[in-house]
Amino acid sequence: MREQTTLADASFGMNGTVVDEFKAALRGQLLQPGGEGYDQARAVWNGMIDKRPALIARCAGAADVIQCVNFARTQDLVVSVRGGGHSFAGRSVCEGGLMIDLSPMKGIRVDPIRRTARAQPGVLLRELDHETQAFGLATTAGHVSDTGIAGLTLGGGQGWLMGRHGLTIDNLLSVDIVLADGRFLTASENENADLFWGVRGGGGNFGIVTSFKYRLHPVGPTVLGGMILYPLDQAKEVLRFYREFSMNTPEEMGVPAALLTTPDGIPAIAILVGWMGPLAEGEAHLKPLRQFGAPLADLIGPIPYCRLQMFLDAAVPAGMPRYLKMGYLPHMEDEFIEVLCNYMARCPSPYSAILFNVMKGAVTRVASDATAFPHRHPQWHYDFVAQWVDPAQQEVNIEWARALWQATQPFTQGAGINFLGADDGADRVRMAYGENYARLVALKQKYDPTNFFRLNANVAPANQFQHSPSVVE
Ligand SMILES: Cc1cc2nc3c(=O)[nH]c(=O)nc-3n(C[C@H](O)[C@H](O)[C@H](O)COP(=O)(O)OP(=O)(O)OC[C@H]3O[C@@H](n4cnc5c(N)ncnc54)[C@H](O)[C@@H]3O)c2cc1C
Repeated sequence: MREQTTLADASFGMNGTVVDEFKAALRGQLLQPGGEGYDQARAVWNGMIDKRPALIARCAGAADVIQCVNFARTQDLVVSVRGGGHSFAGRSVCEGGLMIDLSPMKGIRVDPIRRTARAQPGVLLRELDHETQAFGLATTAGHVSDTGIAGLTLGGGQGWLMGRHGLTIDNLLSVDIVLADGRFLTASENENADLFWGVRGGGGNFGIVTSFKYRLHPVGPTVLGGMILYPLDQAKEVLRFYREFSMNTPEEMGVPAALLTTPDGIPAIAILVGWMGPLAEGEAHLKPLRQFGAPLADLIGPIPYCRLQMFLDAAVPAGMPRYLKMGYLPHMEDEFIEVLCNYMARCPSPYSAILFNVMKGAVTRVASDATAFPHRHPQWHYDFVAQWVDPAQQEVNIEWARALWQATQPFTQGAGINFLGADDGADRVRMAYGENYARLVALKQKYDPTNFFRLNANVAPANQFQHSPSVVE
């Protein structure tokens, strides 16, 4: 539960004149503890996170971002950078320090002729989809529509379109970025190409991106999407079916799966589908799924692409406390399925869920060292989110999640940059960058040698310790 911050907390030892000058230099607002809007601005998606920055700068544009970086560097303040505020570990808000809040930066410009879009870092997935879908276009984005494009893109970006069009970073054409020394650069394949390699999967390690330019593809506006629900006691057979079905359907079909409790309290397993090609063709590919087992409900049909993008929103509302773990599964062994289903049957909270997604097609045709994101083999993304409402239930839920992770981690390989939790330390961060880690360290040394940007999935420059903050820090 977040506590209200009062004016009594407000000083943090900052010199008033320096703060006033900084405030006057910004086009956006500067918020301080106790001031209007401060508590809303420091709240992030994960309700476990309750941190109080000394200052929150709500940036109006790139000029504000440059002011923030220069101010924090000269005042020796720790900085956190907020895009959509969705990081599981809550790394976009800091204790003391300056929170550089990009959420007011909402500009989007679509070029329907060249099929590109430029977006500022405060844009959420549903906002980008809204603008691009006006022209029947889209780029790969995640599965929950209030995620920020900024953090999602910098960590790779997995979504419904990835089988056909690759990760979000595979569709990134260029970025504008403010470095730790306040310089403003553009990075693309042709300009500062080493930096462009690093921002495609290297998280927020190298600077603050103030503009993303994406390649777009014709998508929708109507796609075939939804889910088929089965009772949880059929989960083992359903997962064995899912293992074959998800890997063997054409790459136009996104096929996540989820073990969850329905809103009316029924423990269930869902196979979700998003088919982006011609609808009749999609129906033909769905036949084996529609003929499998004894479902509780078949909720697949033609829907607007934007609705598919919001399909999972209600399951993960902002502000609840939660605990997450994630790994990649090169194989989905029977033994893994057995263990997983046994744990789900004992899940203490109806809000918790286990999720799978298939990584195949275009994602796997990019070399693992072509971008900083290394996980390019056909495999499944596996994660679970323990969520609860009553603070008294926190311990039992975290215990359940830790035990589930201990039992299933041996089946996994690696970790996703976008899915690191609050207690994932330096070893898991290294795992997330895999074989690209050494190259990222060298790049960090070049672009951020003091580790100014460290509240992220941190790559430390060669001569420094890796920073791995935790939720209890
Ligand atoms: C419910 C839910 C569903 C998700 N589903 C998916 C999914 O389907 N696919 C997927 O790939 N990921 C998914 N994610 C993970 C998500 O992509 C990451 O949490 C991502 O970091 C969120 O970005 P954000 O901008 O909202 O987060 P923030 O918390 O604002 O930022 C995350 C990190 O990025 C840094 N950062 C943010 N903006 C910038 C910037 N402009 N420049 C430099 N650094 C910056 C921050 O400092 C922080 O370290 C999901 C997360 C949640 C909570």
